[in-house]
Amino acid sequence: MSKFWSDAIRRLVPYVPGEQPKEQQVVKLNTNENPYPPSPRVMEALQGFDLNRLSLYPDPNATALKQALADYHAISRDRVFAGNGSDEVLAHTFMAFFRQNAPLLMPNISYSFYDVYCNLYDIQYQEIPLRDDFSIVLDDYSQPNGGIIFANPNAPTGRTLALDEIEQLLQRNTESLVVVDEAYVDFGAQSAVALTQRYDNLLVVQTFSKSRSLAGLRIGFAIGHPDLIEGLERVKNSFNSYPLDMLAITAGVAAIEDQSYFRDTTDRIIATREWTRSELEVLGFMVLPSCTNFLFASHRYLEAAELMGYLRARGVLVRHFSRPLIDNHLRISIGTDAQMQQLIDTLGQHPDIIRL
Ligand code: PMP
Repeated sequence: MSKFWSDAIRRLVPYVPGEQPKEQQVVKLNTNENPYPPSPRVMEALQGFDLNRLSLYPDPNATALKQALADYHAISRDRVFAGNGSDEVLAHTFMAFFRQNAPLLMPNISYSFYDVYCNLYDIQYQEIPLRDDFSIVLDDYSQPNGGIIFANPNAPTGRTLALDEIEQLLQRNTESLVVVDEAYVDFGAQSAVALTQRYDNLLVVQTFSKSRSLAGLRIGFAIGHPDLIEGLERVKNSFNSYPLDMLAITAGVAAIEDQSYFRDTTDRIIATREWTRSELEVLGFMVLPSCTNFLFASHRYLEAAELMGYLRARGVLVRHFSRPLIDNHLRISIGTDAQMQQLIDTLGQHPDIIRL
């Protein structure tokens, strides 16, 4: 704390990201990263990059990346916005659209950056309770609002809304913007991108951090009606003209172009997830259905915080949130088969765990 901090800064409660340990030995299942390296096409593109170019500024519009995304999603380029990770895209989204006279609606359990942005930008919001099984009650969103945001699949629960349910929400809220954060959509859920062609009140946000193995490069994007994209560009150009550096643009294009590697690695993660789910169930865990690269699980008789500490002491990192309603759950990212075997073996050695 410094006497120079403004009142607004004193009041902030920043988001706390999962730990990035210095030791290489840990089995890192705490931040939903992809256990596989980026596509070989990305490696080639970066190795072929002429470093002399780094003395120049990058393309402020990241045109090549937007074009690659537009081609991939079969849409026009003016429907694509790109930013420094989807966190930045989300931040600009909150700034551009959610400072309204009615509250932003969001599930009471969701990505915990949303309320941080609300506090940063002074946005009023209302958290809508999920059912006990963590599913969304659509009817609760039919009330006056200044926008709606949710992650689909949701984080950290992994639960997914079907496209027809999202469409109902769009039809009931034609006067407000609905933002669907699809950070995890590539691991088995259906994307709402196609709906953006028909609904000008829908913005879909995605990231290269999970299914494209590029968390370290920070690439996120949004797809929606050109007027929404223009709104985001206005915020971006009032904040940082060059959010994507040259290496990120180069690698992002190469990653999008390698569809077969993308399919292969996401399929592998889905298969490993389902194996892990059944093994966790044998060890006494209750595991929510998941269309993501993580599982959200609670144990029948052992406490999540204790289990997290037990795993940590044995070199396996998983995420535990000390928040009401979910503080007895663990969020376990899906790693390689070998990493998940190590998780299961370590849990299996817990003195109080009895195999069912
Ligand atoms: N949305 C959700 C739901 C997430 O879990 C994450 C990852 N923490 C993000 C957005 C942000 O991802 P990134 O900034 O790496 O694109």
